[in-house]
Amino acid sequence: MSAENGSEHFKVIIIGAGPAGYTAAIYAARAGLKPVMFTGKTPGGQLIFTTEVENYPGYPEGTQGPEMMEDLRRQAERFGTDIRYAMIEKVDLESQPKRVWEEGGPEFTADAIIIATGADAKYLGIPGEQSYLNLGVSACAVCDGFFYRGETVAVVGGGDTAAEEATYLAGLCKHVHLLVRTDKMRASLIMQKRVLDTPNITVHWNSQAVEVFGEEKVTGIRVKNSLSGEEQELAVKGFFVAIGHKPNTDIFKDSLDLNEQGYILTAGKSTNTNVPGVFASGDAQDFTYRQAITAAGTGCMAALDAERWLKEHGLS
Ligand code: NDP
Repeated sequence: MSAENGSEHFKVIIIGAGPAGYTAAIYAARAGLKPVMFTGKTPGGQLIFTTEVENYPGYPEGTQGPEMMEDLRRQAERFGTDIRYAMIEKVDLESQPKRVWEEGGPEFTADAIIIATGADAKYLGIPGEQSYLNLGVSACAVCDGFFYRGETVAVVGGGDTAAEEATYLAGLCKHVHLLVRTDKMRASLIMQKRVLDTPNITVHWNSQAVEVFGEEKVTGIRVKNSLSGEEQELAVKGFFVAIGHKPNTDIFKDSLDLNEQGYILTAGKSTNTNVPGVFASGDAQDFTYRQAITAAGTGCMAALDAERWLKEHGLS
């Protein structure tokens, strides 16, 4: 680290501290790049809000999301990652070195930047939804569906994610109620057909969940028909919200190429963004898989891409 124009300078700045960010940090630190990581407001990312994680390879008994993130943090620090518990609020990716600003704080410069800011699931904001998070409410069927084997569950949404989650859950659960707020689904036709052809999925058109209720865990939801105004209760153990994700990429929208939903575009089989020396990993650039293991995989790729780029430009 050295001072440039009075700002702290680093070879690599990693923005974000989920599985992608920590994995990028482990690889970059072990490559001698002395990375600094800005964690943002939620060190550990989405996994901090998860309980049991059973699908991350290497944990035969499963683990807890927060514990896994603590292990990743310790592993990143062990190799010399400088972790700053701060939010980056502004970036200038055009200049070389690139510049980033801490919220209400100083400027930092870096030769290369790895973005790992993740995405947040959207929620409905109805009573009971947040208080039963991980106690029946989930935003990821692949992560949590297993816990509802043989049970009746509900999925909210009419896009590809909802269609995919409903059909995935139908393979595990006794019955799936799919709540679509209008009279049509936005999902691709093939996905809609799959939903309609699955005998243990009931589609409730023009239907909005208005409350999640239960005791210790979820026992049911209240659903309102938006045409008739009638309300009914559905007994469900699981309530899966699949109304889309919002990638945390607002601060990059003026400098990086994003897709319509705000995900960062990367080139081919790499983490390269349209700005040389800026690499994107994890859910901020992945709207397809969105798993901890795939985020970690792209974090590794970003560190390797950054290392090679720095070497090619005589900056390592
Ligand atoms: P989308 O934005 O495509 O769909 C969101 C769905 O949620 C819509 O049906 C929307 O309803 C509904 N919704 C939004 N807000 C509410 C609310 N408050 N209450 C009830 N329903 C609500 O998000 P997805 O996550 O489904 O997909 C994101 C992108 O990823 C899409 O481009 C999709 O095609 C892609 N994708 C592709 C997959 C694949 O190809 N295998 C799998 C998953 C995603 P409305 O239509 O009324 O606005």
